Amino acid sequence: MRRDLFDDTHELFRQSVRAFVEAEIVPHHDRWEREGIVDPAMFRAAGKSGFLGMSVPERFGGGGVDDFRFNVVIAEELARAGVVSSGFCIWLHNDVCLPYFLSGADDEQKERWLPGICSGDLMTAIAMTEPSMGSDLASMSTTAVRDGDHYVVNGSKTFITSGINSNLVIVAVKTDPTERHRGISLLVVEDGTPGFTRGRNLEKIGLHAQDTAELFFSDARVPVENLLGEEGTGFVQLVRNLPQERLSMAVMGIAHAEAAFGWTLEYVKERTAFGQPIGSFQNSRFVMAEMRTELDIAQSHLDRCVRALDHGELTAEEAAAAKWWCTELQKRVTDQCLQLHGGYGYMTEYPIARAWRDARVQTIYGGTTEIMKEIVGRSLGL
Ligand SMILES: Cc1cc2nc3c(=O)[nH]c(=O)nc-3n(C[C@H](O)[C@H](O)[C@H](O)COP(=O)(O)OP(=O)(O)OC[C@H]3O[C@@H](n4cnc5c(N)ncnc54)[C@H](O)[C@@H]3O)c2cc1C
Repeated sequence: MRRDLFDDTHELFRQSVRAFVEAEIVPHHDRWEREGIVDPAMFRAAGKSGFLGMSVPERFGGGGVDDFRFNVVIAEELARAGVVSSGFCIWLHNDVCLPYFLSGADDEQKERWLPGICSGDLMTAIAMTEPSMGSDLASMSTTAVRDGDHYVVNGSKTFITSGINSNLVIVAVKTDPTERHRGISLLVVEDGTPGFTRGRNLEKIGLHAQDTAELFFSDARVPVENLLGEEGTGFVQLVRNLPQERLSMAVMGIAHAEAAFGWTLEYVKERTAFGQPIGSFQNSRFVMAEMRTELDIAQSHLDRCVRALDHGELTAEEAAAAKWWCTELQKRVTDQCLQLHGGYGYMTEYPIARAWRDARVQTIYGGTTEIMKEIVGRSLGL
């Protein structure tokens, strides 16, 4: 069935993203995967090409178009080229971090940060998780105590995507440790803030070109003008941005699974065993048929969710459902695709091997599958 999510503008945008990915990411991807980090010059080049801050008003240097379908195009093109880990910083910046600045920043903060966010001079990250807390956000223990014109921040965060390369980190802190959700505030911590240090680049199973780090705050002095929104509204801001964040993970998941399916279809047509293409065995045909069917169903549901998000109608529960189901499907599809590649599927020079590794975390970060099901289940009055 023809997909009717996009129009000509999106298809033109897709061509430029594809050209950018081929020229600026693909030639360096293997090296960045080995080094565990991308060159921030690529991120700035993405800004120059108009692939950062598409939804930011033009007066701040953005694209001025609030249309999530452009974000979908970027995710699909990164997945198609098999370079998700190198492009992850672009995805996190646009899909996850930017909404906090657009909806939470005041005019002065927008003037200060949005131009750099669009040009790529300011790469963003978001730090919620702590060594002793992930799913249960309200129990976080990083504190921010007001001292004159500053907040004094103490604590640590872990597993922070773009933790090494980022210039602006949205840090969730407790401004009132006696409260749970209502005690959380968001502070933007800038590179070079006294008392703010970054730990090591953590070694992960997958997403190798994506830097993921620990962050430490030891009497870090953050100016009060870096508070996003009002004190105590951190959780409310978080909840407001969750539908886009979670849908975006589902979109990336299905884009990646679709790419894996494409590589596998080619492979099973070419590879032979017992004198025939491995794709012609009934088992292979059935597995491929099942994956094709599930991916098509997932895609049409996701496209509906994207439209609902653009109309401001996607609920947190719907986004949670899309996130868990699509990322679980991604895991299953990449696993089956790897199996059909046989031993070659286990070799990292094959994109399917990397796709399989990269898929594993998708059901963990951004809210685990179990937490997503809790959200959906509770919405049923259970
Ligand atoms: C590669 C990577 C990148 C990440 N990037 C970021 C980032 O940029 N910023 C950031 O803030 N965090 C980031 N995270 C952290 C991520 O969001 C957390 O790991 C995730 O939310 C789970 O938290 P946890 O690891 O503490 O697991 P826990 O909360 O300790 O959960 C462990 C297990 O218990 C289950 N569980 C917990 N509570 C319940 C419950 N109520 N009911 C049923 N089961 C439950 C979970 O589902 C899970 O299976 C990243 C993590 C990884 C691995």
